[in-house]
Amino acid sequence: MSAAPTAIEKAPIERYIAPTKPSLIGMSRAQLAEALGSLGVPEAQRKMRVQQLWHWIYFRGFTSFEAMSSISKNLRAALAERFTLTRPEIVAEQVSVDGTRKWLMRLPGEAPNRPHDVECVYIPDTERGTLCVSSQVGCTLNCSFCHTGTQRLVRNLTAGEIVGQVMAARDRLGDWPGGVRPVDGVVPAGERCVTNIVMMGMGEPLYNFEAVRDALLIVADGDGIGISKRRITLSTSGVVPNIARAGAEIGCMLAVSLHAVRDELRNELVPLNRKYPIADLLAACRSYPGASNAKRITFEYVMLKGVNDSIADAKALVRLLKGIPAKINLIPFNPWPGSKYECSDWEQIEKFSQVVFDAGYASPVRTPRGRDILAACGQLKSATEKLSARERMTLRAMAMTE
Ligand code: SAH
Ligand code: SF4
Repeated sequence: MSAAPTAIEKAPIERYIAPTKPSLIGMSRAQLAEALGSLGVPEAQRKMRVQQLWHWIYFRGFTSFEAMSSISKNLRAALAERFTLTRPEIVAEQVSVDGTRKWLMRLPGEAPNRPHDVECVYIPDTERGTLCVSSQVGCTLNCSFCHTGTQRLVRNLTAGEIVGQVMAARDRLGDWPGGVRPVDGVVPAGERCVTNIVMMGMGEPLYNFEAVRDALLIVADGDGIGISKRRITLSTSGVVPNIARAGAEIGCMLAVSLHAVRDELRNELVPLNRKYPIADLLAACRSYPGASNAKRITFEYVMLKGVNDSIADAKALVRLLKGIPAKINLIPFNPWPGSKYECSDWEQIEKFSQVVFDAGYASPVRTPRGRDILAACGQLKSATEKLSARERMTLRAMAMTE
C-alpha cells in the first residue's frame, strides 16, 4: 500500500451543462435491444449486438463508442448520434488520511443549470474496496440521528445514476482492465479496487425499489462489472413490504438499521417504525429468502450515549434476534452540527459488544472511516444544501478529536 495521503479538497466546478442525449448506462439487456432496434438493427442480430455492447460498456468500461472494435463503424456512428455513455460527473473529491475517498457526483436537475449532487464514498482496505452508493438525493425519512435525513431536496435516482456511481468510481480509480491506478491513494492488494458494494449512501433504497433492483442486477451481471450478490449489501431502515421483494428480485445481502430494541425508542430514532414496528420488521427478516448461517442478515446498531447503549439494551438485543441468522454491527455515532446525540463512551461500547459476543455473535464495532472528510455513516449531505464554512469546520473538528 502506498503512503496515506493527507486530506485534499478540490473546488467544485460551478458550471454544469446537462447531457442532451440519453446514456446507455443503466439500461438492461432488454432495453439495450430496444435501443438497437430503434437504430434499425434487425431483431435476429440484436442479442449478439447487446452482448458486444455489454462487454465494452460494463466489462471494459469504455466511455465512448469509437473504439468498440467488434461493432461495425456504421453502427458505432449511429449509436454516437443518438446515445452517450455518460456517467455522473465527479465534481469534487476529498481523500481522507485513512485513504477513504468521498466524491460529490453531479446529476441533471429539474432546471438545466441547477444540477443535483449525491455523495459516493470509497473505503479501501487491505483485501477489499467497498463503495458506498446513494439511492436518492436526500431522504424522505427523518431518522433523528442522521444528517442525510435533514436534507430537504429529494428525488429518486435512476438505475443509470446508481450504476453510474459505480462506473464513475471505477473510472477514477483506474479500475477497468488495463487501467492506471491513482498514485495518491490507498487501494486493496487484489486485482480490483471496487470489490464490494453497500447501498448505504444517501437515501432509503427500498423507497426507490425498481431503480435499485435494476441497477444492482447490472452490477452483479457476470459478463460485465461482475460483483457477486454476496458482495452487495442493501441497507434499509425497515421498509417491510419491500424486504421480501429485495430477497426475491435482487437476492443481495441485507442489512437492517435496527438501532433500538423497544418500539417506543425506535419510533423516535427511526420514525418509519411507527408504520412498520419491530415485530413486523423482524418477521420479514426471519423469512428473508436465502438467509442462512452462511448468508447472515446484518443488524446495524448506532451507539448513542445514554439513549440505546445500556447493558439491558444489549441483552434485549440478543434476545430479540434469537433464531435469525444475524451479524450485529455496532456503529459509533458520527456527530454532525446540530445533532442532539453523542457517541457512547468507548468503554460502554466495549461492554455492550461483550454481551453481544458472549451470546455467540461476532460483533465488530465498525471503525469510523473518513471522519475527517465527513464521509462516515450518516454524515453525508450533498452540497445541494451547502454547509457554511463554519459548520464544516465545526464538524471536522468534532470528527478529528473523537
Ligand atoms: N437509508 C438506509 C441506508 C443509508 S444509511 C438505512 O437507513 O439503512 C446507512 C447506515 O448509517 C444506516 O444504518 C444508518 O442508520 C446509519 N447512520 C445514519 N446516520 C448515522 C450517524 N450519524 N452515525 C452513525 N451511523 C449513522
Ligand atoms: Fe434516511 Fe437511512 Fe438516514 Fe434514516 S438513516 S434518514 S432512512 S438515510
